[in-house]
Amino acid sequence: METSQICEGSAGNTLKMDLHDKEIAPGEIVPVVIIGNGPSGICLSYLLSGYTPYLSPEASHPNPLLYSKLAEQRHLSLLEQDLEYLCEGLEGRSSNPVAVLFDSLLLPDSDFGLDHTSPLEWRYEPERAIPHLVLGKGPPGGAWHAMEGSMLTLSLANWMELPGLKLKDWIRDKRRNLRNDRATPAEIASYYQHYVSQMSLEQSFACGTTVTSVTRQPGNQEGSPPCWRVTGLQHREGEELGDGSAVLEEVPFSLLAHNVVLATGTHDIPARLGVDGEFLPFVYHSFWELEAAISRGELDQASDPLLVVGAGLTAADAVLAAHHLNTHIYHVFRRSVTDPGLIFNQLPKVLYPEYHKVHQMMTQQQHQPSSQPQDLVQSLHPHSAPSSPSSLSPLPSTTSSSPSSYSGYLSFPLHRVVEFRPDRKCVLESDSGQQTVVQVSKALVLIGAHPNLSFLDNNGRSLSFNPNEPITCRRNPIEVDPFTNKVVAAEGPGMYAMGPLVGENFVRFLKGGALAIASDLAKRQRQGMEQEDLTVDRWLDRQVTTQTQAEVCVLDS
Ligand SMILES: Cc1cc2nc3c(=O)[nH]c(=O)nc-3n(C[C@H](O)[C@H](O)[C@H](O)COP(=O)(O)OP(=O)(O)OC[C@H]3O[C@@H](n4cnc5c(N)ncnc54)[C@H](O)[C@@H]3O)c2cc1C
Repeated sequence: METSQICEGSAGNTLKMDLHDKEIAPGEIVPVVIIGNGPSGICLSYLLSGYTPYLSPEASHPNPLLYSKLAEQRHLSLLEQDLEYLCEGLEGRSSNPVAVLFDSLLLPDSDFGLDHTSPLEWRYEPERAIPHLVLGKGPPGGAWHAMEGSMLTLSLANWMELPGLKLKDWIRDKRRNLRNDRATPAEIASYYQHYVSQMSLEQSFACGTTVTSVTRQPGNQEGSPPCWRVTGLQHREGEELGDGSAVLEEVPFSLLAHNVVLATGTHDIPARLGVDGEFLPFVYHSFWELEAAISRGELDQASDPLLVVGAGLTAADAVLAAHHLNTHIYHVFRRSVTDPGLIFNQLPKVLYPEYHKVHQMMTQQQHQPSSQPQDLVQSLHPHSAPSSPSSLSPLPSTTSSSPSSYSGYLSFPLHRVVEFRPDRKCVLESDSGQQTVVQVSKALVLIGAHPNLSFLDNNGRSLSFNPNEPITCRRNPIEVDPFTNKVVAAEGPGMYAMGPLVGENFVRFLKGGALAIASDLAKRQRQGMEQEDLTVDRWLDRQVTTQTQAEVCVLDS
């Protein structure tokens, strides 16, 4: 069977994935399958495609100890060196030692804002390549395609670049300047897509592919070794319609893999409050639903207030978007505005002025609880008709020194939502137990997201630190070996995880996971991989000998 994937990029450009003319014969075992085509999957694919880091002959490094350790065996690539030895004594902003090592080699001293040249040089050594497939639902770039396109990213732009292609150079080539060294998500998504084609990685990517199950497959009597079975659906254009458009088909696929890498990120399922009424149609859980409501003209200065729940950066973006429309806003969050854990208290004001503005609003325009239960049905919006006039209270007081500076905004720190009612009233409760009822037009709950690991048994819970809890990036990530990223509690050998799934939420540091995995796979390949090596050779032979024939794919077991 033949496949080809056409993926629409965020900028509307079309990227053709050349997976057609390849074939995975029944029973053939792919050496590595990477599930997820975001920055994690892309970075690992780069390292597995033969791009190999060495200490450059002209190199210097601000850390003399690390430099001298690397120089001891400068003829060896980083993938062949002892990562544990190199990591000893290194400190950085990630708790993952290999992430700190790779970051300090890719962007030395970047925490101090210095632009020290990387001591690594990348050599293309195709003989080292390990054949692999990268499966992903959408176009390469992952979560970056789903973010609001125009907001600025949180990280300095070069922290989000992948090895071998300077983000700044790429943006400069597009004749754009970076504001404060920050880029927009649309630019980052487009950079990742460009990266895949620039580094000629497309042949390993199958976009439009959703994995629905990963299970351990026992070996059989014909000598097939135990391995992983990966099944799912591939979206393809089918029959052409009269108007030139094509029917989108879902084709099932099933393949076998020696190694599986979980790189699916953690932004798939919006977290929920778990309160009554949360499924009412006016309660949203994603930024794009807000954008859609705005574009339908459902929110403006005449509408009832928007309730924003959460104090992360996406919630802040929602506040800014609604504020821009002059829509009145109630902003509810659990922490106090001075809580050091609040992201706004960790960001430098100069670099992130828009988030500083939101923090100012949260601080200066706080709801002041009175001794009586309150109903703020009319408080922010003078035109709204009260549904229960008897319970109306006067305009709420705020702590603002200049109340008019952010008119129409009211924050509720140390509050939680208790209930959403069908008449669009929301019951809020303070830490001290006092309840306030607000009338809203819509409610937007932006309190984080969970990964969707429904393709694993029990949603992958048994792989996490606490199997009784769902997997989350911060509180309960997948437990992996810190130097190989092998999943500790996997059902069999050859399962790895990386990125936010293992608690590494920033692109800057998830690259370390790619180094750890590529280095472990390379080590196993060097050590012979026994049975597996033969399969790698068979796979390579197939690729070489059948280039001219209809080859890979797939799908339908
Ligand atoms: C609003 C927001 C702002 C952010 N800002 C920054 C920032 O400024 N700097 C920074 O470093 N990080 C930032 N992040 C975090 C950043 O998104 C992640 O660090 C990064 O995208 C993780 O990369 P990943 O490849 O591991 O996962 P993702 O980028 O999430 O990609 C995983 C991909 O796997 C796909 N997938 C999931 N399940 C399956 C399946 N079953 N089958 C096939 N494919 C599947 C998903 O659709 C997705 O495309 C931000 C995140 C958000 C939500």
